[in-house]
Amino acid sequence: MWQVVGHEKAVGLLQRSLKGEKLSHAYLFVGPRHVGKMTLAINLAQALNCTGEEKPCGGCPQCLRIAARKHADVHVVELDGRTEIGIDQIREMQHFASLKPFEGRHRVFIIDRAERLSHEASNCLLKTLEEPPQNVKLVLLAANERLLLPTVLSRCQRLELRPLPIAMVEEALIHRWRVVPERARILARLSSGCLGWAVSATEDEQLLHHRNERLASLIRLASGGMDERFAYAAQLANQFSQDRESVNGVLSLWLVWWHDLMLVKGGSGDFTANVDQEETLLSEAKRYSLTQIRGFMQSLRQAMAQLEQNANPRLVLEVLMFSIPKGKEG
Ligand SMILES: [Zn+2]
Repeated sequence: MWQVVGHEKAVGLLQRSLKGEKLSHAYLFVGPRHVGKMTLAINLAQALNCTGEEKPCGGCPQCLRIAARKHADVHVVELDGRTEIGIDQIREMQHFASLKPFEGRHRVFIIDRAERLSHEASNCLLKTLEEPPQNVKLVLLAANERLLLPTVLSRCQRLELRPLPIAMVEEALIHRWRVVPERARILARLSSGCLGWAVSATEDEQLLHHRNERLASLIRLASGGMDERFAYAAQLANQFSQDRESVNGVLSLWLVWWHDLMLVKGGSGDFTANVDQEETLLSEAKRYSLTQIRGFMQSLRQAMAQLEQNANPRLVLEVLMFSIPKGKEG
């Protein structure tokens, strides 16, 4: 049974390909962080090596070893604390790819956060994508495919994983992870449909704490002076050069916050994502007009799009700071 929650379309396509033995030699799973890309990739590796009846069975020695990340033929290439995936990691991968499977039928290489492949690493990877050894499958995972080389993109079959419905996340948290319903409701809403985030938050109290701290500083910033805002823009721009996705995460968090303000303002407060921030949402919503809220959401979206298109981050973020609307004194 496929362990991944939701993503029926992607699972369906993989199942059909497995049955007809028409699997692509390389896949690209695209979707936001924590949406389920790694779980699906692990499931695919299991399905390829499973010795059970219904593949992936989840219970045979192959499936179990893969789930425990102990299988000799399933490798995850990842950042490991570095800012880029280097050519040395891809060369090492190619060495293993040239060997016959050791304990299973297929060697599977999962490249996590593939948008962080260095330019040399991407070019080196092309060789494997062009002439994949027999019984080797590659699965690239990326949140932002536009950062991948077009030549890499064109050699992979692309599967998009979208955020799950909130109710599905909530149900999975309650029934699979045994989270108490009230907490499941909050985490599901905060997850924006990315179940992996919610599951991590059930195991790590700090995650929710950090999120709320970050949100509090963004709310403070909206009533702060220009000096403070520019200092923050500089800090974010700096962070962007190290880790673009984390900056994208900050801006997404902010966007969800302003979207919630819009909902509260429009009388749809029951549908807010930040369910644990009801009071602050109510008081903040009073400070802005609907036009101001919509305007700033537009600015946020624009900034995110410009960053994705490689505009100068410092400039984009400073312009964004200028467009924070002036609220009434709270
Ligand atoms: Zn199995």
